[in-house]
Amino acid sequence: MPIYLDHNATAPLRPQVLESMLPWLRGRWGNASSAHGPGREAKKAVELARAQVAGLLHCRPEEILFTGGGTEANNLALRGACLARRGQGDHIIVSAVEHHSVLRCAEDLAGQGFQLSRLPVDRDGLVRPESLGSALTGRTILASIMHANNEIGTIQPIPRLAEALRKRSILFHVDAVQSAGKVPVDVRRLGADLLSLSAHKMHGPQGVGALFVRQGVSLRPVLQGGSQESGLRPGTYNVAGIVGLGAAALLAGRGLAVEAAYLEAQRGRLEQGLRELEPRAVFLGAAAPRLPNTSAVCFPGRDNQALVANLDMRGIAVSTGAACGSSDREPSHVLKALGLDPALARSVIRFSLGGSTSVEEIAETLAALKAVLGEVPRR
Ligand code: PLP
Repeated sequence: MPIYLDHNATAPLRPQVLESMLPWLRGRWGNASSAHGPGREAKKAVELARAQVAGLLHCRPEEILFTGGGTEANNLALRGACLARRGQGDHIIVSAVEHHSVLRCAEDLAGQGFQLSRLPVDRDGLVRPESLGSALTGRTILASIMHANNEIGTIQPIPRLAEALRKRSILFHVDAVQSAGKVPVDVRRLGADLLSLSAHKMHGPQGVGALFVRQGVSLRPVLQGGSQESGLRPGTYNVAGIVGLGAAALLAGRGLAVEAAYLEAQRGRLEQGLRELEPRAVFLGAAAPRLPNTSAVCFPGRDNQALVANLDMRGIAVSTGAACGSSDREPSHVLKALGLDPALARSVIRFSLGGSTSVEEIAETLAALKAVLGEVPRR
């Protein structure tokens, strides 16, 4: 079995989550919109999952919409809110380090006549509340800023950012795909009007997610079809996936504090070992609040693709950054936004740990990396 340290790309399905899903893939096949018994059973399972997701986010079940993943939740939030508010303004704000599912959606909206501002971040990847304040105009209708960054793990000061927006009744969307299930996500404390999450980042199934839509916020649907999810997300319910998302949310919520402390201790062990192997290593975002499982490290002068490939040959799965951009040689938009020198950016490896990452696995990873640093000389 490889040592898997790429949980920000996707996290393995928890056995209890799989167990919760299996009946809906075997004997129970009702369409959750059907009026007969099997349909009502399926609908009951969907509603239980809705309550479980709402429990994780501290909101009402009616404020949860199920989607086909984080990308779709982000698209529905941005497009749905902008189209619903078109008469009130045309300016949207995103941070420069958003996931492509926010950035490219915002760019597409800009192509349709919306004005787009991209907020810079500091060297640790943080958006400064002052820069959000000075980007606001009388025509701003929406800001979208992620809770935690997928590449470097930096956690944004969301409640402070929300303050400036609330005063002006500007909608605030928060992409919490990486943070939900890893750190507390309370939509009221954060001050989010819309918030996205994805099951597979918290040991649930791939291809299912949710969007929190604060009561009173209107969206225009992106897809046209049936009346599921109040017409906002038409399409036959993915009952097994939604049940898996609910179970993953419940389990993540229950174990949150213990798992976060464990992950932080394991990451500390890893980073200490990395410092000993490579005293020149640079830990990105380390001066800011970070996800407890994430460590993005520069190995100055080394080629990150060669490091990742050689670690892979030794059975260690890590990445150079986001899985969706892993074939690009160009440094990611996140690393560019940090102002990292391009050569340094090409030396970054992202380690993202999970609750099953053991002390032995950290020791084996460090031993493999020691060998790999000998095989991949400095340029
Ligand atoms: N947002 C962030 C921050 C992510 O890291 C990801 C996935 O990597 C997504 C959104 C997209 O989620 P999904 O893979 O469920 O489409």
